[in-house]
Amino acid sequence: MTIADRYHRQRLVEDIGDVGQEAICHSHIAIVGVGALGCMSADMLARAGVGTITLIDRDIVEYTNLQRQVLFTEEDARTNQPKAIAAGCRLKAINSSIDVRSHVEDLTALNVGRLLKEVDLIIDGLDNFRTRYVLNDYAVKNCKPYLFAGVIAGTGNVMTIIPNEPATPCLRCLFPESPPVGSHETCDTAGIIAPAVGIAASCQCCDALKLLSGNRDKISNTLLFFDLWNSQSQRHEIGEPNKTCPCCQKLDFSFLESAGSPEAAALCGQNAVQIPGTGNINLSRLAKRLESHGTFTLATPLLRGSLHEELSGDGEPIILLCFEDGRAIIHGTDDVGRAKAIHARFIGT
Ligand SMILES: [Zn+2]
Repeated sequence: MTIADRYHRQRLVEDIGDVGQEAICHSHIAIVGVGALGCMSADMLARAGVGTITLIDRDIVEYTNLQRQVLFTEEDARTNQPKAIAAGCRLKAINSSIDVRSHVEDLTALNVGRLLKEVDLIIDGLDNFRTRYVLNDYAVKNCKPYLFAGVIAGTGNVMTIIPNEPATPCLRCLFPESPPVGSHETCDTAGIIAPAVGIAASCQCCDALKLLSGNRDKISNTLLFFDLWNSQSQRHEIGEPNKTCPCCQKLDFSFLESAGSPEAAALCGQNAVQIPGTGNINLSRLAKRLESHGTFTLATPLLRGSLHEELSGDGEPIILLCFEDGRAIIHGTDDVGRAKAIHARFIGT
């Protein structure tokens, strides 16, 4: 069987055919957040033959990820590989004919334009609403489909947002404001099961294949809610865009424009805090400077190590991760103030 034949079963699907498959092979998508949802979507779309896949994730692989993040191995967790890079290697092994671009970055209002400029559509694999609102603003402003999904415990929500005429409602049509931090359940507090992620990722990927193969008319204008654990699901008709929507109607892209520099924040599902970067840093120089304070390993774009002088609540050394883009993640505390103090002391500004 030749490489050209690998999509044979997909071409056989009536609405896809040779023309649809060609279009899929020449498309470029972004997966923002390569956690549970992002891994499953990336796996399916790489196998489907999407020509270029841009992966964006700020974090590293940990053992607690392996239960649901299907692209990663124990070795990735043991060596704390950046998720975007570990997933990229795995996708290339799955399908060597596609182009995979890995970005170990935190998507913000400042870099979204550079990272997503060339993509045809955006798949949401995020764990926080703040970044989703940045994506929603960007997608509406630049007329790119945005495939929203979120999963907690055994439940999930999925909605495809298409800003091109005839436009569907956007995220802010349904949820005008981002829920306040700490007001909703996260995978940290309520947990998460892989089968629920599979449902949400499958719905996202199916809509991605419909859009990329020229079958927009097959997209349902609904918000899917499912509770897999309790065997329930509903599709809510979402109708027309909300006339009072600040984003898609009034074109007030406040999350893109006012986000400025992101703030330090505790990371969902982890005893860790992320400190935003202020520009690229020289990791080998930093490694030298930290030599006497702990044990560090440099594997560009990441410097990782434990600080001998700082202990977490359970007496383990604090783990410090520094990325080339200037960001740092401090593991072993969820206290933003303490993390900032550690950052100021060992890395500085
Ligand atoms: Zn809207």
